[in-house]
Amino acid sequence: TYVVTDNCIACKYTDCVEVCPVDCFYEGVNTLVIHPDECIDCGVCEPECPADAIRPDTEPNMEGWVEFNRKYSEQW
Ligand code: SF4
Repeated sequence: TYVVTDNCIACKYTDCVEVCPVDCFYEGVNTLVIHPDECIDCGVCEPECPADAIRPDTEPNMEGWVEFNRKYSEQW
């Protein structure tokens, strides 16, 4: 899965939401979030993010961000 990280805080761009083929972005509290079970790992959103906030969970130490994205995408 891809996850939204702290560079997204207060970002006003939604370029990522527009390109996601499965609509798995949700509104968090201060950030957008990606539902980790709905993301199909296509990677299309990553280069669209002007804040470089979207990272693959294969990078080191991303477990906390996966939980963060899950928590806020399931609050609705
Ligand atoms: Fe959507 Fe693909 Fe980004 Fe996952 S990697 S959030 S499916 S655009």
